[in-house]
Amino acid sequence: MQNRDVAEMLDRAARVLALRGENRYRIRAYKKAAHAVAALDEDIRNVAAEDRLQQVAGIGPALAAKIKEIIATGKLALLERLETSQIPAEINKNILLAAALTFSSELVPNLERLPGIQQVQVAGAVRRCQETVTGLELVVAVSDIKQAKEALSGYPQLHQLTWKNTVGHAVHSFGVEIALYLTSEENFTPLLWQITGSEEHVKKVMAKIKRKTGYDLNSPESLAKLQIAKEEDIYELADLAPIIPELREDWGEIEAAQSGKLPQVIEAADYKGDLHVHTNWSDGTASIEQMVATAAELGYEYLAITDHSRSLKIARGLSLERLAKQKKYIESLQDKYNLRILTGIEADILDDGSVDAPDEILAELDVVIASVHSGFRQSQAKLTERICRAMQNPYVQVIGHATGRLLGRRDPYDIDLEEVLRVAAATGTALEINSSPDRLDINDQVARLAKEAGIAVTINTDAHSQLELANIVLGLSVARRGWLEKKEVLNTYPRQEILAVLQQKKRR
Ligand SMILES: [Zn+2]
Ligand SMILES: [Zn+2]
Repeated sequence: MQNRDVAEMLDRAARVLALRGENRYRIRAYKKAAHAVAALDEDIRNVAAEDRLQQVAGIGPALAAKIKEIIATGKLALLERLETSQIPAEINKNILLAAALTFSSELVPNLERLPGIQQVQVAGAVRRCQETVTGLELVVAVSDIKQAKEALSGYPQLHQLTWKNTVGHAVHSFGVEIALYLTSEENFTPLLWQITGSEEHVKKVMAKIKRKTGYDLNSPESLAKLQIAKEEDIYELADLAPIIPELREDWGEIEAAQSGKLPQVIEAADYKGDLHVHTNWSDGTASIEQMVATAAELGYEYLAITDHSRSLKIARGLSLERLAKQKKYIESLQDKYNLRILTGIEADILDDGSVDAPDEILAELDVVIASVHSGFRQSQAKLTERICRAMQNPYVQVIGHATGRLLGRRDPYDIDLEEVLRVAAATGTALEINSSPDRLDINDQVARLAKEAGIAVTINTDAHSQLELANIVLGLSVARRGWLEKKEVLNTYPRQEILAVLQQKKRR
């Protein structure tokens, strides 16, 4: 059991508790402990053996006991209990995409091992990467339907399983509703496509196919004749360029596919580096070195360290002296890594719209993000003015999490989005897609508006621990749903160009 294994198990417990809609503070305790263990410089086993766990920031008495249990047994009884326990009284109908993705990535291979089942794939809103989903829809190819149904009925984590012909409904021990669509291997792809949806998208494409070819994808005879092996084949029948799941919302993608105007949306491989992360210099748990090492493992070409500014006391924002010290320190580390460490700040947008550091300091940093962290309940006029004034600052390159929403907890604050987009375009300020699982801010639709307004976008994790750097997949999915192409995203510029791109605004 290494630190990383212990951290992962605690993190998994946090995710399972979140799926079940358990107490927020309990979830946070597990998450904090996971991050603390991941950031620890010494072997967790020694710390535990010497009874020093509670001296580590982020680990209280309850979690210290859980960590000891993991080290001693290699397991966490809580997790095993949750896996087979009765379903919670209330089913969670508001599941974050991040939770749905990790949950399904664990469940699918387990179901695939059952007798009579050939393959299982996630469909529905999860496959389209919608920001929240109500449950999981799985398409299941079976070799023996009776055997498969029996195996699924006997699967201990699936409760209240009922069948209507080939469609099953159940609730997982983690409190998630699951729909199972059984089919033969030959009809797997067309069913996967249909269940992926969206309903409107599927309806329109099917109507096109019917009109052009006479085939009906709902009819077994048509399917038998067509032998559809890939989703691309379906679009070809409709005389359309292939459309990826994230775009299937009937937001104009069918018309675009028809006229050859589908976007070449950004891919994970295009992403070169994160421009917004925190370290233990402010409210992050990992050191600069740990963040950089993880970014290097991810193959990034650069990473910007953007800790909080002095006014954000609750997040231990850096005084100007500490900021200067951090900048020097980063410069001293530079040669040790085959990755460019960019200096930066996430500066508060203060009540009057000024930015929480003098211009001459901002001018020296590689990356300046300005964000609202206070006064969420101010009037629309006031909040809009604060953000727009911050964008007038020539050194502010990016507005962080521009609408301030927290999924399931806090609505976006009241801003005049049109005005914010207008000023962003006029000043050459980028907007951020923040990849924190409960932010995803700006969202897909605003990202699309930004694209149309010619505003650059930057996709960042806002990671407060090295574990959170992996959240980038979420921000990328938002960007894809927002039709963003590689050239519209700052983080796709290579190391040699990123600084020049970031400095463009100052030189205007
Ligand atoms: Zn922030
Ligand atoms: Zn941040």
